[in-house]
Amino acid sequence: MSKGKAPEHFSDIPAEQRREWVQGFDLPAFRANQIATHYFTHYNDDPDSWSDFPASARELVKSKILAKLITLVRSISCDGGTTRKDLWRLHDGVLVESVLMKYPDRATVCISSQAGCGMNCPFCATGQAGLTRNLSAAEITAQVVAASGACARGEMPGGPIRLSNIVFMGMGEPLANYNAVIQSLRNITSPQPDGLGIGARSVTLSTVGLVTGIEKLIEEQIPVTLAVSLHTPDDELRDTLVPINTRWKVKEVLAAADKYSDMTGRRYSIEYALIKDVNDQAWRADLLGRLLKNRNAHVNLIPLNPTPGSKWTASRKEDERAFVRTLENYGVPVTVRDTRGREIDGACGQLAAAEKIKDDTLMITSPNN
Ligand code: SAH
Repeated sequence: MSKGKAPEHFSDIPAEQRREWVQGFDLPAFRANQIATHYFTHYNDDPDSWSDFPASARELVKSKILAKLITLVRSISCDGGTTRKDLWRLHDGVLVESVLMKYPDRATVCISSQAGCGMNCPFCATGQAGLTRNLSAAEITAQVVAASGACARGEMPGGPIRLSNIVFMGMGEPLANYNAVIQSLRNITSPQPDGLGIGARSVTLSTVGLVTGIEKLIEEQIPVTLAVSLHTPDDELRDTLVPINTRWKVKEVLAAADKYSDMTGRRYSIEYALIKDVNDQAWRADLLGRLLKNRNAHVNLIPLNPTPGSKWTASRKEDERAFVRTLENYGVPVTVRDTRGREIDGACGQLAAAEKIKDDTLMITSPNN
């Protein structure tokens, strides 16, 4: 099986071109609207169940318009069923994951934008494996449609709920797969039936800080929440923790994020994985506080989720508490992220890293399992 681009799909096509696109398959233009409604409003991609659709056109839809791009290999749950990791096989055998998290009042899905990642951050399991390939807009969107369907069908504890939040914090660097990610954002945020009708404010795009990407995103006028993976306030350490820092320095990344938040009028997040004795010292907390005190930013501290074989581990609780206090003293809003999904390798940076296909049987090789 050759690894490569996914077949073209309805949701790769911008909404305003879909009528013409379906006409290219000798369907009347109005069918585009029906297809969009089934897919984005009812999360249904099986034309055999569409009573308003001619039987003679169903095969065409299955093969050319809504080809199945992601196939569920397995789901694993933890946290009493409120966290569920789905492993998907793409048309070329490549694997990606998404994680669905149910809270009392909302449901969030964490999705992948690339298979693997080329950013090479040494503490991230995805980064260790390198980039396999970009996902298409439709492959990214399909993860969200699947999660929406799972929520609507009441597959998560507590009964049916609407999928409310999307975070681009699974595998991949979203701004390194720019065009596909933008089209997926349009699919997520456009009102039904052209999209899923999820507000841009409820979508978080997390980036290592590709400055040109952040600046382009400003132009798109899709006011998603921006998260910047900073991990340290000083360039010297950041050059090693987030290697793209050798291209765009901390100050440039923060300046781009500031511009972004001027456009949306909303706070951005600074992601900071606390690594014991690496980036959790009092002086770094102080420098971070000084850097952020006059910015429209919120710090999200993530206790490091150690990757298999890594020499690094999460900070001591007392160092984490001191870090929080220092930021609070500067008046910088700060939260410590919950560590859901760890026992199923569904946590930050761990997605799909533990899966190996062996003799066509999926083996979980992580010692955590
Ligand atoms: N490429 C994007 C999105 C991917 S991951 C980015 O870097 O922002 C989402 C977040 O998880 C990032 O902040 C990333 O740095 C963090 N992360 C990766 N590996 C981690 C680990 N082992 N422990 C804690 N956080 C991790």
